[in-house]
Amino acid sequence: MFCLVDCNSFYASCEQVFRPDLRNKPVVVLSNNDCFIVARSAQAKAMGIGDLQTMFDIKSWMQQQNVTIFSSNYALYGDLSARVMNTLRLFSSRIEIYSIDEMFLYLEEISSPQNSPTQISESMNDYGKHIKKTIFQHTAMPVSVGIAPTKTLAKLANRAAKIIPKCQGVGVLDTSKKWDWVKKRTPVNKIWGISSRFSARLAELNIYTALELANSDPKMIRRYFNVCVERTIEELNGHACLSLEEIPTPKKQIYCSRSFAQKTKQLPPIQDAISLYVARACEKLRAQQSMSASLQILLYTASYESNYYNSHQVIQLPYPSDDTRLISAIARTAVQHLFKPGVAYIKAGVGLLELSDKKHQQLDMFHPGQSTKTDQLMTVIDKINTHYGRNSIYVAAEGVHKKWAMRQAYRSPSYTSQWNELPEIKC
Ligand SMILES: [Mg+2]
Repeated sequence: MFCLVDCNSFYASCEQVFRPDLRNKPVVVLSNNDCFIVARSAQAKAMGIGDLQTMFDIKSWMQQQNVTIFSSNYALYGDLSARVMNTLRLFSSRIEIYSIDEMFLYLEEISSPQNSPTQISESMNDYGKHIKKTIFQHTAMPVSVGIAPTKTLAKLANRAAKIIPKCQGVGVLDTSKKWDWVKKRTPVNKIWGISSRFSARLAELNIYTALELANSDPKMIRRYFNVCVERTIEELNGHACLSLEEIPTPKKQIYCSRSFAQKTKQLPPIQDAISLYVARACEKLRAQQSMSASLQILLYTASYESNYYNSHQVIQLPYPSDDTRLISAIARTAVQHLFKPGVAYIKAGVGLLELSDKKHQQLDMFHPGQSTKTDQLMTVIDKINTHYGRNSIYVAAEGVHKKWAMRQAYRSPSYTSQWNELPEIKC
């Protein structure tokens, strides 16, 4: 059986972990630069606060209504996500990390064959409750659990667990009778892998619910759509076509881009920002043991400006590298060429492209490539930053004051990843 564990309102729940006073209260989390609402606790949703609502529009109303507002704190969310995943490893050695707040587990038989179907079903439900309870005990993270014979049905089971109060956060779809009941009540656009574009086309074929899709002819659907939708039909009928992706595939490109706190017409702060983004991207590059052969620089003006434009440039590196210093220096020079005086920029970004496995590098006859000393230095930098907290050591090109850094007026402490932001307990 496949089991999907999904953290409820993940970012908002992370903020409540170290603030028990905010549990069962309205909490929202803002996007980068405090622009939009990207996560809402159940209570905030019940008040009618919409996804991606603009902070500016409802800030004073939220303050009147005692809604607690947070800037996004990805250091905290990443760490809590890792803790949830580690707890899940207690239940299965076969795990797929699907996203920051969703994980699939493969559960071996959890009942003996002599048990009746009702007993098996009950024991699966109990097991789901046990998973939910253990995660809350270990991490204070509320989750929903969906158990079913295929990944697509496990997604439906999880959705049912969330929206049907009687389920109490655990949905088991182990018989065709149960999954037909849920499919009948699920619109096609809520099925995993069916986009809104596909749902509109399915509506033209009079297919509106998951049950109608499951009962349609897979071969006909394949002709109209693709093999993935055909597989979805098989999965909805209990035939597992999708297996667990237990080993994450390394990314082919790594991007880091962010808005500035305010628009700037000056080159130095943009160069400093670019150096920081290069450092972040290179950390990810080294974490997945890759080297980059080229670099993309992006500069943007605000989209509402009449002369809105974005410019970008791709630069070939002299040799494949993961050296923050080398890539940062090249990026700074590139920004200088892209930058136009008098233009107010609001956002910049970098992309590391043409990634390859560090262990299997093609050697260059005319260049020795990255030195062993550089490898050692980068390893030491990563170790220091992992051990003592992010930015304990950084390239001076990033600048010290970072006045351009994005607005994070409501950021919570990084309770678990910065020594100086550890939670305090007063007795
Ligand atoms: Mg979630």
